[in-house]
Amino acid sequence: MLDVGRHPNIELLAYSEVENLQGQAGDFTATIRKKARYVDEAKCTGCGECTQKCPTTVEDTFNEGLASRKAIYSWFAQGIPSTHTIDPDHCRQLQGKKCGVCAKTCKAEAINFEQTDQLLERKVGAVIVATGYTVFDPSRIPEYRYKDLPNVVTAMEFERMLSASGPTSGHLERPSDRAVKSEIGNLEKQLNKARKALDKHEKDRERDSAEVHRQFLQGELGEDEELVKWARKYEEYQAVSRRLESLRARAEEFEDAKKLAFIQCVGSRDLRFYPFCSGYCCMHSIKEAIIAHEHEPDTQSTIFGMDIRAVGKGFEEYKLRGQSNANITYRRARVAEIDSGKRDNPVVVYEDTLEQKVRREEFDLVILATACAPHNGIRDMAGTLGLELDQYGFFKTHASHPLDASKYGVFVCGCANSPMDIPESVAQASSAAARAVQILTGLDREGSRQVAEEAS
Ligand SMILES: Cc1cc2nc3c(=O)[nH]c(=O)nc-3n(C[C@H](O)[C@H](O)[C@H](O)COP(=O)(O)OP(=O)(O)OC[C@H]3O[C@@H](n4cnc5c(N)ncnc54)[C@H](O)[C@@H]3O)c2cc1C
Ligand code: SF4
Ligand code: SF4
Repeated sequence: MLDVGRHPNIELLAYSEVENLQGQAGDFTATIRKKARYVDEAKCTGCGECTQKCPTTVEDTFNEGLASRKAIYSWFAQGIPSTHTIDPDHCRQLQGKKCGVCAKTCKAEAINFEQTDQLLERKVGAVIVATGYTVFDPSRIPEYRYKDLPNVVTAMEFERMLSASGPTSGHLERPSDRAVKSEIGNLEKQLNKARKALDKHEKDRERDSAEVHRQFLQGELGEDEELVKWARKYEEYQAVSRRLESLRARAEEFEDAKKLAFIQCVGSRDLRFYPFCSGYCCMHSIKEAIIAHEHEPDTQSTIFGMDIRAVGKGFEEYKLRGQSNANITYRRARVAEIDSGKRDNPVVVYEDTLEQKVRREEFDLVILATACAPHNGIRDMAGTLGLELDQYGFFKTHASHPLDASKYGVFVCGCANSPMDIPESVAQASSAAARAVQILTGLDREGSRQVAEEAS
């Protein structure tokens, strides 16, 4: 990516979208919307001081909602260009309220609330579409209880949990435990505030809160409304304190997740959703189980699948290494549902197809290997570029020229084309670039493709 950013022949327009494409192969005109960042890319040094001072906290979608970020942020570390962006939907200043803290903080004077979107035009000979995919939403399978049971997560969420720079710094802290810890933090703040208010009453009136409360219970406070309010505040303080104690006792037993279940083909190879195999999820589940085991050697993983599709050079050996070195069990089974068990443990209910028995097994955490679905914005993009989609909703490509989209001079690679892993996406990207060069150099003729199609 750094190389791309520095290459003299590559103009990188990040945070931008194609809005229109006119013309034909060899002579397209693309209209591109370069969205306002409200931060001058040329001035921003990426120091992050503005982020530290920004008072607005927002859900961090890069971390799959498992963490929060500020209204001025960088999408992820090491991004190119290394600049910050203001989120106009949440920034106080851009929402018409008073703030501007980032502008006061930024020593490079990079903040510019007056910045607007720019419409750019570029003459291009060929177009390569690499808009990727969207992870299937597992709430569409209600029996898996995603979002209902806290310790059922998607593989993408699990990837963020495993990441050293992610929301749990690579520790497999269960979402239910994190929710309790976060509640403890909030209650501690609430308790401190309540204690300060009680201390003030005690100092002002030289009386003890517990004694005032005892008199309140015995009806001895008479008409003194202030004392009654004080006694009620003391009751609230006690309730918060009791809840805090019980949560702290629970939190003492928390441990990182060690018994993991991976459920394959969630939305894939399923006639209700996507009949095709997404290709990469068997391997990413094995990879994730191996990494989890590297983090914590007591980790035990069970991968539930109809079969494990380890298709590729060295993939089968990797699968077997996972079994022998990383405590992975492969269970040939279709999971019917996920139930709730003790200590927020998800219980996997499955049919063991080898023994032909229905079984229930409790885990610390369940990870759903969700299907590779067409990108959410693919219909709009197809409309903008004038391209057709295939029966599954990915860009349609030609049988004889598998990177060629339905418009001559436009090529599709990676998961915008169909589900595939990173090496295959990279190989396709190189092929798409080679096809584009053929157009630019006049080595390819639409007629030659038609001849090839007729021959195939
Ligand atoms: C949990 C999980 C783990 C995985 N682990 C592995 C692994 O270990 N190894 C492996 O080989 N594969 C793995 N994969 C598969 C891998 O994610 C894909 O193979 C790869 O991301 C495909 O690359 P892509 O460039 O086609 O699409 P993407 O990575 O989806 O990139 C597409 C980009 O286009 C951008 N975009 C979309 N629409 C527009 C638009 N209109 N204008 C401008 N930009 C747009 C998107 O924001 C995105 O940045 C994993 C997948 C999942 C779900
Ligand atoms: S102006 Fe917006 S981005 Fe800047 S500090 Fe305030 S809320 Fe954050
Ligand atoms: S790669 Fe594995 S999990 Fe993914 S759809 Fe294919 S068989 Fe199912």
